[in-house]
Amino acid sequence: MSGIVYLVGAGPGDPGLMTRRSLELIAAADAILYDRLIPPGALDGARSDALLRYVGKEPGAAALTQEQTNELLVELGRSGKRVVRLKGGDPFVFGRGGEEAEALAAAGVPFEVVPGVTAGVAAPAYAGIPVTHRDAASAVAFVTGHEDPDKGDSALDWDALGCFPGTLVFYMGIRQLPLIAERLLAAGREPGEAVAVVERGTHPGQRTVVDTLAGIAARVEAEDVRPPAITLVGAVAELRDTIAWLERRSLHGEVVAVTRARAQASGLAERLRELGAEVVETPAIRIQPRPVEGELRAAIDRIDEYAVVCFTSPNGVRLFFDALAGEAVAGGGEAVVGGGDPVGAGAEAVAGGRDARALAGAVVAAIGPGTAAELSRRGVRADVVPERFVAEALVEALAPVEVEGRRVLVARAAEARSVLPDALRERGAEVDDVALYETVAEPLTEAQLADLERATYVTFTSSSTVRFLVGSGARPPAGARIVSIGPVTSATAEEQGLTVDVEAERHDIDGLVDALIADATSRRVPA
Ligand code: SAH
Repeated sequence: MSGIVYLVGAGPGDPGLMTRRSLELIAAADAILYDRLIPPGALDGARSDALLRYVGKEPGAAALTQEQTNELLVELGRSGKRVVRLKGGDPFVFGRGGEEAEALAAAGVPFEVVPGVTAGVAAPAYAGIPVTHRDAASAVAFVTGHEDPDKGDSALDWDALGCFPGTLVFYMGIRQLPLIAERLLAAGREPGEAVAVVERGTHPGQRTVVDTLAGIAARVEAEDVRPPAITLVGAVAELRDTIAWLERRSLHGEVVAVTRARAQASGLAERLRELGAEVVETPAIRIQPRPVEGELRAAIDRIDEYAVVCFTSPNGVRLFFDALAGEAVAGGGEAVVGGGDPVGAGAEAVAGGRDARALAGAVVAAIGPGTAAELSRRGVRADVVPERFVAEALVEALAPVEVEGRRVLVARAAEARSVLPDALRERGAEVDDVALYETVAEPLTEAQLADLERATYVTFTSSSTVRFLVGSGARPPAGARIVSIGPVTSATAEEQGLTVDVEAERHDIDGLVDALIADATSRRVPA
């Protein structure tokens, strides 16, 4: 059996710029040979049994030579494997993909090339610079800045670059920038021509420095710009004043730690990312689903008997529906296809469990908008959603619902307060108060601790997030600003020796994000 090698571009760094084809191939690969400049998480979709091998070239690090990489690709391809050779940007733009393809062709190993979004276009785009423009540049040249411009046999024709009628985009040139600028000036480019240097383009920490050709080298030195960076020379760089977008987002440059359990973090994390922040997830807490047995099992089995079903968190909704779907109803096939069902008596039971229709007869109550949204994702519109999302408010909102002598299910976290079940019992309801999950401590990994160290903001969305984080031994770094969702959480933080810098006025996720934006904006030095 003959294998195949895919030469795949992974884009410039933003995981969202990976192509659909690249993700499909990563998921199917037997072996992946990758470089340093691939997006964070690029390999997350790889099979757990896939061989993952770093073959990048880093100064000082022991890695493979290009010849060894070529040989390895040929060898793996010949052994019948599906091999992905994953590279930053595009594999054929300064990626040595051409050489690898030549080696594969020579060896008769089948291959496919999957282009990627190249840094020379993407980093400027994310900095608000189009590499061509009807009025400002009709051509663009991609140039390697890697070679020493002083060496005699330079492959670069500096005179040609001097009179090139358009934008010059230099890859790998940041260390050589003084010499590149000098050469271009000597070759006749204008000292006042605009130059932009984009560091870590498309990454959350992207930074852009703009100056003139005469001034850029000193500027880059003063601001300590480091690789990877793209240097762009040309009038299009001036368009940035008008169309920079990423760096104008309100949380650009901020590193925000989210301390909620991962299962709850995604909504907050997504909003922060949209606002331009780099989000680091540092939960010292994890959602542990309860096994579907005992009380929970009993509640699922008698789900049709409830007049009211209350959900107190999005997680509760998720796990309730999992439990519902995973469990066959007592009586098996009969309950599913029984009676006058058109499938007919005697038909085989339908595989699997139940779905949203099990709640058809019940009044469904959600503690807040997040929980209601999770329900609506499963086709259930909540009948009751209070304005404020605390148990007391849900009790009030349920006042008009007749509960006396009727069965009510409260599906919630193990450690939740008993305000709601107590109030319903007082009104004569027969309440089944069932725990779907508990939150348990989980120490942060080394990587998470390192991420936390870089945070400029640390967010706490409940007292338990504070207790679990501090309890795990981790602490927000000294310079980070601490954001709390409300006074209860703030009090816990202060008890644990943290100083709260920002407290949300509205005690929900939107309120917390608003407070964070206001704080970041007020501290921003006007450009
Ligand atoms: N094949 C890649 C380029 C590899 S050469 C591509 O098509 O993008 C490596 C150089 O690419 C770096 O030295 C830097 O100049 C540039 N580069 C790669 N990723 C970058 C990024 N996120 N931001 C700025 N420059 C980047």
